[in-house]
Amino acid sequence: MNNPHQNAIAQLNQVALLLRPNYSARSKDFDRVIKRLAEPDRVLKTQLKITMDDGSAKKFMAFRAQHNNARGPYKGGIRFHQSVSEVEVKALSTWMTWKCAVTGIPYGGSKGGIVVNPRELSVAELERLSRAYVRWLATKIGPWIDVPAPDVNTTGQIMAWMVDEYQQTLGKQDLIQENPLATFTGKPLELGGSQGREEATGLGGVFVLKKLTKALKLKPETVTIAVQGFGNVGFWFAKHAVDQGYQVVAVSDSKGGTYVKGGLDPVKVLAHKKKQGSVVDFGKPLTNEELLELEVDLLVPAALENVIHKDNAAKIKARAIMEMGNGPTTPEADEILAKNKVLLIPDVLANSGGVTVSYFEWVQNLQGYYWTHKEVIGKLQPLMEKAFDEMWATKEKHQVDGRMATYITAVQRVVDAMLLRGN
Ligand code: NAD
Repeated sequence: MNNPHQNAIAQLNQVALLLRPNYSARSKDFDRVIKRLAEPDRVLKTQLKITMDDGSAKKFMAFRAQHNNARGPYKGGIRFHQSVSEVEVKALSTWMTWKCAVTGIPYGGSKGGIVVNPRELSVAELERLSRAYVRWLATKIGPWIDVPAPDVNTTGQIMAWMVDEYQQTLGKQDLIQENPLATFTGKPLELGGSQGREEATGLGGVFVLKKLTKALKLKPETVTIAVQGFGNVGFWFAKHAVDQGYQVVAVSDSKGGTYVKGGLDPVKVLAHKKKQGSVVDFGKPLTNEELLELEVDLLVPAALENVIHKDNAAKIKARAIMEMGNGPTTPEADEILAKNKVLLIPDVLANSGGVTVSYFEWVQNLQGYYWTHKEVIGKLQPLMEKAFDEMWATKEKHQVDGRMATYITAVQRVVDAMLLRGN
């Protein structure tokens, strides 16, 4: 199996083949730009040394990949996980470039991470490690340079420590020119966060779902949905889908899934999960594998990577898949799904509501003027709908699948910006 960065390059090359005829007058420049996009602009790495609570010193490998900034400052999360690697941050930074281009927000892509299992650290050690990461990167990030955000295992509290460390580190050298809060997004509301950020990814997905339902000439009440993962993204997606009249018949978490014929109430399922520790026995229990193979109209993977793979893709009975999680489908599974005519709305479109509201947070920080919840959601909806319309039009025009259609639009935007700059 390819590593994630090889997958990202393979996807780029596939899109380039389709786009190349549009650039026949500048084919040499086009080829150069595509070659450049295969690798991040730069990959920073270091060993961060912190003092542990028992007085010993420990080192942690840390990365930041800045993929492309032709359309605006680099933008991307920071992941704390034991499986973080250079090839992973390189791939994730590439996908961030495409994700920001999909909804047209003025950012490029980046990603960072530390090789650590944060559950093995005390709160004080976690704070020291978060601050050490920012001290290392302080001059390489900033509102107009690179804007980090939370990702796997990083929280609003961690962003708050990071903002503080950034302000202290650069403040000492009189290097702060913009509101330092605008250097990080995903901050708590009390520290410059945005209204609506918590639900943004799930709700953005439901805006896309409504467009998809219309395009397929279906009625929400007749559409059945299974959601894998009942965390931030899965819960908010399910809740807003039910509020819009869809039938969410199954949800799951790491312990397993639950099925309710006729549809469940996500708010009640969440209350049950809080009490019992899992969604499993809310309705009829089922395994995560069984959930993926349910006879539903829409399957929504909203948990882990690579859950739809070559061994189970052919068993999927859903008519469409919306990737609310990042990277749930392997390239081998993509081919099987396309053969079986399963419609796929890719992660870079389906879950881009999150980074879009992060962009709104940055805009509010830079203005020093904060919007109401209604204003934030009111600005999110048209961007998600437009992104869907563009994907759909490209899909029809080029007769390609949803992933390829989304990538064509995104890569084209980045290529055009690079060519205009003479990159
Ligand atoms: P989360 O930690 O809040 O929730 C993850 C959920 O997945 C939990 O319910 C957990 O029990 C479940 N899960 C874990 N292992 C599982 C397994 N083996 N089978 C089934 N379920 C399992 O995370 P989240 O913020 O909801 O993120 C979910 C996905 O969405 C990730 O891929 C993330 O990168 C992506 N994403 C999140 C955001 C965001 O704004 N939070 C934005 C874009 C993409």
